[in-house]
Amino acid sequence: MSNARLRIRLTAAAEVAVRSGHPWVYSDKVREMNRPGRVGEVAVVYDRNDRFLALGLYDPESPLAVRILHRGQPVLLDAAFWRERLEASIRRRAGCFDARTNGWRVVNGESDGFPGLVLDRYGDCCVLKIYTPVWLGSLGRRDGAGSMGIPAVPGLDLPALVREVLRPGRLVLRLSRNTESAATAEGWADGCDLLGPAGEPSVVFLEDDLRFHADVVVGQKTGFYLDQRGNRREVGLISQGASVLNVFSFSGGFSVHAARGGAREVTDVDISPHALASARANMVLNTAIPGVARARHVQVQADAFEWLSGAPRGRWDVVILDPPSFARREHERAAAIEAYRRLVRLGTECVAPGGWLLAASCSAHVSPDEFLGAVRSGLGASGWGWDEVKVTGHEPDHPADFVEARYLKALYARRSR
Ligand code: SAH
Repeated sequence: MSNARLRIRLTAAAEVAVRSGHPWVYSDKVREMNRPGRVGEVAVVYDRNDRFLALGLYDPESPLAVRILHRGQPVLLDAAFWRERLEASIRRRAGCFDARTNGWRVVNGESDGFPGLVLDRYGDCCVLKIYTPVWLGSLGRRDGAGSMGIPAVPGLDLPALVREVLRPGRLVLRLSRNTESAATAEGWADGCDLLGPAGEPSVVFLEDDLRFHADVVVGQKTGFYLDQRGNRREVGLISQGASVLNVFSFSGGFSVHAARGGAREVTDVDISPHALASARANMVLNTAIPGVARARHVQVQADAFEWLSGAPRGRWDVVILDPPSFARREHERAAAIEAYRRLVRLGTECVAPGGWLLAASCSAHVSPDEFLGAVRSGLGASGWGWDEVKVTGHEPDHPADFVEARYLKALYARRSR
C-alpha cells in the first residue's frame, strides 16, 4: 500500500458541515480518496478548490469514516499540539470544582477535540474510555505493533500525556463494546492499567463531600454516572423530610444525596442485584453523615415498568426516573419516545400532592424536544395538575458542542393538586 498521505474530498454538504465545525463525516459523504485508508490514519480533508479544510482520523470499518481533529489552517500534529489540547480542556473546567468534589470528566470527546474519547478522573485515578479503535495505536506501545497495525496518532502517546499533565496515581483503560475486538487484536484488554500494575476494581471519590465507589474496571461507562451530578445536587435540595423513590437507582447516587438532604426514607428500584448492592455500599460509605445515618433505606429488585404498575398511589414526595438509554439506534427512536411517555405516566401515579417528579433521558437519538414532549404528555395524562419547574441539560464538565452530543436532558415537575 502506498505511503502517500491519505487525501479525502467530501460532498458539498459535508464540506459545509465540517467548515462550520461539525466533527463527523459519514462514509457516504466521502466523495474521493487518493487510496484506501487504514484504521487510525490521519486523513487530510481538502475542499473542492483543493484547499486544506481539516485533519481527521479515518476508520474504514465505521459509518463514521472521519472524525475531525482540526480544521482551519494546516497544523503539525506533535506532542505540543496534544498537550495544548488536553490543557485547554482542563482550563475549560477551571473553577468548576472545589476540594469537596474530585470526580469529574476531564475530556468529553469531540467537544474537547478528542473525538470518541473520554477521560474521567476519580480522585487520583483517571479512566480513559475509547469509543473508536482509531486511538488504539496511541496507547503507548511501539507504533503499529499490534496485529492490526493501527498507527499512533502523530505526536500522541496518551498514557505519557495524561501522566505528564494530570499526574494521576493510576490510569485505567476502558473499551466500548464496539472497540473490544480491535483492541484485543492489538493486545489491549478492557479494564487494564496503563501506567503500572493492576489496581483495585473500585476506587472511592468525593462528590460534594459525599463518598462514592466508582467501579473503574468493570462498571458501566467509566464506573459512575458523573453526568448526573447537577441533578443529584438538585435532588438533595428538595428532599428535606421527604420520602424519595429512586427508580433505575444504579449505584444510588441520587439516593445518597437525598439522604444527606434530609430524606426520611429512600427507596431504590433497579433490576440488577449488583446495582442494588453498590447502592447499599455507597450508603454505608456515608453513614458518618447524619442524614444518611437517619434515613430509612429500602431496596426493590424489579423491572421498573412492572413494579410501577402496581406501586402505591401518591406515596412519594420525590420520584426520580433516570432510566438507561431507550434508543441505542435511530430506528428505536419512536418506541423510546413512547416508553418515556409511559414511564412518566406510571411515575406520576406515585407522586404525593405537592411532590416532585424528575424525569431524565440519556438517549442521544431522542432530542430534547421529543423527550420533553413525551414527559409533558405523560404528566398531562395523569389527571393531576403539574407545575413545570425547570429543565436541565449538560454540566460544565460535559460540554456538548454539537447537536448529536446533547444526549442528557431532564425535567422537574411539581404536583400542584
Ligand atoms: N440513575 C443512575 C443511573 C441509571 S443507569 C445514577 O444516577 O447513577 C440505569 C440503571 O437502570 C442500571 O442500574 C440498570 O441496572 C437499571 N435498569 C435497566 N433496565 C431496568 C428495568 N427494566 N427496570 C429497572 N431497572 C433497570
